[in-house]
Amino acid sequence: MQVISNEALARLHPTVHHPESTRRLEVLLEAVGEWTEAGPATVEQIERCHSPEHIARIRAIEGDTWLDGDTPASATSFEAALLAAGGAIEAARTGGFALVRPPGHHATPVRPMGFCLFNNVAVAARAAQVEEGLERIAIVDWDVHHGNGTQDIFWDDPTVLFVSLHEWPFYPGTGRPGEGNDTTVNIPLPAGSGNEEYVLAFEEIVEPAVRGFEPDLLIVSAGFDAHADDPLASMEVSGLGFRDLARRCLGLAPRIAAVLEGGYNLETLPRLVHATLDGFRG
Ligand SMILES: [Zn+2]
Repeated sequence: MQVISNEALARLHPTVHHPESTRRLEVLLEAVGEWTEAGPATVEQIERCHSPEHIARIRAIEGDTWLDGDTPASATSFEAALLAAGGAIEAARTGGFALVRPPGHHATPVRPMGFCLFNNVAVAARAAQVEEGLERIAIVDWDVHHGNGTQDIFWDDPTVLFVSLHEWPFYPGTGRPGEGNDTTVNIPLPAGSGNEEYVLAFEEIVEPAVRGFEPDLLIVSAGFDAHADDPLASMEVSGLGFRDLARRCLGLAPRIAAVLEGGYNLETLPRLVHATLDGFRG
C-alpha cells in the first residue's frame, strides 16, 4: 500500500492553535519520507456528494472565519479541501493510504462540520463508482467520532455500506445504539474501550457485515483519535491495536484503501500511521 499526499497540505488551510493543524501533515510527511503526490479533485467530483451551495460557500471564503464552532477556514481552505478529496480519490483508485487534511467524515451533503469541509471518503467512493464502474463500496470508519456526514450521504444508497465504530455518547451525538439500516451499521462503544473491544467488534460485526456485502472496494476512514494518548477523546486503542484492525481488513475486498481522518497527538500520530500501514501491508 503506497502513501498518497500533497505537500501543500502542510501549508494550506492554516488553523494555528487548532488541533487540526498543518503540523499534522508536516510530522506525517517527515516520518513517511516518500509519497505519491495527488492533484486536486474537480468541482464535478465534489458535486456528487455536496450541494452547489455548500461548495460555493467554501470557495467564496476570502479571510479567516469559522464555519461552525469547531471549524476554522480561510482563503486557502477551498484549495486544501480539493487536494484532500483528490488524495482520497487517488487512494481509492490505487489501493493507497491518503495522508490528507482537512478530514472529511463529518461533512454532510449540505454543510461543513467538525473540522471537515468536503467528505473525502464519500467523494472517493463516488469517483470509484462513476469513473471506474465499481458497483459496491464498503466504508469502515474507525475514527473515534461518528462519521455522521458519510452516513448522511449514503443513508438511502444500497450500493455503499457504511460501518462506523465510535465513542458514544460523544460528539457529534449521532450513531447511537439502534441507529442504522441495511447498509448503515453503527457500533457505539463506551469511553475507555481499547484493543479488546475493537477487535471483538470487528470479529462479531464489522467483518461479517463487510464480507456479506461483497464490496469491490473497501475504504477505511482511518482516524487515530481512538488512541490512548489522543487529546480529544477517551479511548484506549494502541499502535498494535490499529495494526491489528488494518490486518483484519485484508481479504475483506479485492482492493483496500485508507484515508486519514482525525488523530491529534503530534507525538504519536506518525507511529500510528506506520503501524497501520504495516497492518495493511500484511
Ligand atoms: Zn475524530
